[in-house]
Amino acid sequence: MEHLLGAHTSTSGGVSKAVERAEKLGFTAMQIFTKNNNRWFAKPLDEKEITKFKSKLENSNVKFVVAHDSYLINLCANDVDLLEKSRNAFVDELTRCEQLGIPYLNFHPGSHTGMGEEEGLKIIAESINIAHDKTKNFNVSSMLEITAGQGTALGYRFEHIARIIELVEDKKRMSVCIDTAHLFAAGYDFRTRETYYKTMQDFDKIIGLEKLKCFHMNGSKKELGSRVDRHEHIGNGFIGIEGFKNIMNDEKLISIPKILETPKGKEQLEDLENLEVLKSLIAV
Ligand SMILES: [Zn+2]
Ligand SMILES: [Zn+2]
Repeated sequence: MEHLLGAHTSTSGGVSKAVERAEKLGFTAMQIFTKNNNRWFAKPLDEKEITKFKSKLENSNVKFVVAHDSYLINLCANDVDLLEKSRNAFVDELTRCEQLGIPYLNFHPGSHTGMGEEEGLKIIAESINIAHDKTKNFNVSSMLEITAGQGTALGYRFEHIARIIELVEDKKRMSVCIDTAHLFAAGYDFRTRETYYKTMQDFDKIIGLEKLKCFHMNGSKKELGSRVDRHEHIGNGFIGIEGFKNIMNDEKLISIPKILETPKGKEQLEDLENLEVLKSLIAV
């Protein structure tokens, strides 16, 4: 089986441009924003652009696409207006994915900003239930990302993710993404074989490995358990290289797409270097 590898890719000039970029860089997987990630709303996707995106994708080697939602969305916002806005924006993100045929919308669960973790988790699940209700018959899966747990961000414990899924009615529409930088900053070690297997075993026991549909492959500028989210190139930073070797050679995870969110310039040439490092770790 072949690894599906790629990186977060720029959609500058239109979503179909991302497919061109990914193809040129030799990616077999990619992540995109379907709109400006620092804005609440954007004008609807153009029909022509949707068609172009789909046909380019079909004729490319990119076999997996995931969308990342806007950073502004907080599905457990304490403020009523902000919560309403977040819920509407989330439905809009799901809709854009569905139109583009993108099977996963990756998102950070939310920040409880003082209301408490359990209350926050309940509101997140409620937000997801509302969104699923409004998008019945959609194929796109809501993909919860493990977070570093910065500030009051939820999702830095496997138990948080499991609790949200438990409270979501349509569990078939739920999936999970492990971001290696977040996982590490959250306090889950995977740098040795022993710690790696312990962490993945916990994930399987608490969430279930069948829910894992994507990896964000990022080094970490911050220490284990720091709860600070700072991405670093693969092999640099506090995770080092062994942790990535463990992931790349785990037979159970070969079919799970692995996507970089490491620092990069406009041409994304750094992505090529990081992917080379990942590929070099695969034992032959
Ligand atoms: Zn990530
Ligand atoms: Zn991050």
